[in-house]
Amino acid sequence: MLKLYNTLTRKKENFKPLKDHEVGIYSCGPTVYWYQHIGNMRGYLCWDILKRVLKFNGFKIKHVINVTDVGHLTSDADEGEDKMENAAKREGKTAKEISEYYFNIFLDDLKKVNFLMPDVWPKATGHIQEQIDLIRVLEKKGYTYKTSDGIYFDTSKFKDYKKLARLRVEKLKAGKRIEIGQKKNKTDFALWKFSETPGLRQQEWQSPWGLGYPGWHIECSAMSSKYLGEQFDIHTGGQEHIPVHHTNEIAQSEAVFGKKPWVKYWLHNAWLLFGGEKMSKSQGDMYTISVLEGIGYSAMDFRYLCLNSHYRKPLNFTMKNLDKAKETYKRIKNIIYGIKDDEKTNQKYLKDFEKAINNDLNTPNAVKVLWKMLRDQKAEGKFRTIKKMDEVLGLRLFERDDVSIPRDIRKLIDEREKARKEKNWKIADALRDRVRDLGFFIDDTDDGPRVRKV
Ligand code: AMP
Ligand code: ZN
Repeated sequence: MLKLYNTLTRKKENFKPLKDHEVGIYSCGPTVYWYQHIGNMRGYLCWDILKRVLKFNGFKIKHVINVTDVGHLTSDADEGEDKMENAAKREGKTAKEISEYYFNIFLDDLKKVNFLMPDVWPKATGHIQEQIDLIRVLEKKGYTYKTSDGIYFDTSKFKDYKKLARLRVEKLKAGKRIEIGQKKNKTDFALWKFSETPGLRQQEWQSPWGLGYPGWHIECSAMSSKYLGEQFDIHTGGQEHIPVHHTNEIAQSEAVFGKKPWVKYWLHNAWLLFGGEKMSKSQGDMYTISVLEGIGYSAMDFRYLCLNSHYRKPLNFTMKNLDKAKETYKRIKNIIYGIKDDEKTNQKYLKDFEKAINNDLNTPNAVKVLWKMLRDQKAEGKFRTIKKMDEVLGLRLFERDDVSIPRDIRKLIDEREKARKEKNWKIADALRDRVRDLGFFIDDTDDGPRVRKV
C-alpha cells in the first residue's frame, strides 16, 4: 500500500484517491521570467518520482502544471513589480517572447532529466476569464474588499485559514515582509490588481473592476478546477509555498467550491541548497542543467544525485556530491552493461524496492535495494528486475551512452571482430588491448561488440 506524507495532517497516510480510475495531480509550476535552476529541477524531479510510483502501483494519472506568466510580484506582500514585466523591460522583449523563450528552455531541461510530461501545461494568461469568474463568486459570497490598488481576499472571513501551515497569524509581524497598507488583515492577499497607469503595462485586461491583472494565487485555483475538477487528489510544490501561496489557494478554493478538503493530499519538497541556502534565482551562482552539461556532467548524473536524497530532506548541492553521483552512476551502468537477460524477475528484490518507494517515495532506500541486488552474485533475474526498477527511477539505465568512435578506432574494432570470428584469439586480444589503450572498452555481447569509453 502506498503511503504519502500529507502536509495537511502532518502524517504519513495510506493513499486512496477520490475516484478509482484516475489520480488528479496539480503541481505549482515555473514563473517563466528566467532560467529554471537545478533547485527548481529538484522539485520537479520529486513529482516525476511521485508519478512513476503511482504508475508502478497501477494508477492512471492526470497531471497539470501551471505556467505563471503574469501576476507574480517581486515581494510576498502583493507589492513590487511583476516579474514578467520586469524581465520584458530588462531584455527589451515582449512579455510573451520572454515567457516562450524561458518556457522552451525549461522544456528542454525537463526532457534531459527524463521528466514525464504533464497532460496539461495551462498558462495564467490563457485563463484570465476563469480567474475573473472565481473572483466574482468570491465577491458575491462576501469574501472580498476593495483597496486603492486592487481587490483583496479577506482572510478573517475564512475560519480555516491557518490549517495547512498551522499558522499563528497573530504572531506574524507586520513589518519588513508584511506591509499591511490598506489591507484589513496581514494575511489578506490580492485577487485582482488595478493597472497603476493604464497602458503602461504590457499585460492588462478588462474586468468588472477595471483594467488590471490577476494576483498570483488565483490562477492555481482557476486552472486546477478547470482541468481536475472542484476537488482533486494531490497538490504539490516547494516547502516555501506552505504558509502563503498554498494557504491562500486553499482559502479561495474552499470558499468558492465549498468542498472540504479541496485537495486530499498536499505534498511538499524540501529545497536544494547551495552554500547552505536555498538555491534561488536572486542568488548569483545559479546552476542550470545546461550549465552542468557544459562542465562535464550529464542530466542523469544530476538525477542520480537527486534520487539519493529523500524529497522531504534538503539536498546539499556541492561539486563533490555531484562528482560522487557521476562516478556511482557510471559504475551502475557499467555493471548493468554486462548483465544478460535470463528471462526471470527477482521477486525478493522487487518487493524490497516496492516497499521503499511505497514508503513515502523513499528513493534513497530504493537505490540501495538496486545496489544490493547488483552486488548479489547469486541473484537471478537481475536484467528484468532492473528494467522494472528503472521505470520508477527513470535513470535510463539501459541506454547506451552516445559513444562517438573515431574512424581509426572503428577500423581496429572491425579488425578485431574479424580476428575473433576467425578464432585468431591472440590477434583479437592484442587488438582489444590496443583499443583499450586508446580509451575505448569492447564488450562482447550476443548482438556483437559494444563499445564504451573507458
Ligand atoms: P519559481 O519558478 O521560482 O516560482 O519556482 C518553481 C518551483 O520550483 C516551485 O514549486 C518552487 O517551490 C520550486 N523551487 C524553487 N527553488 C527551489 C529550490 N532551491 N529547491 C527546490 N525547489 C525549489
Ligand atoms: Zn500554485
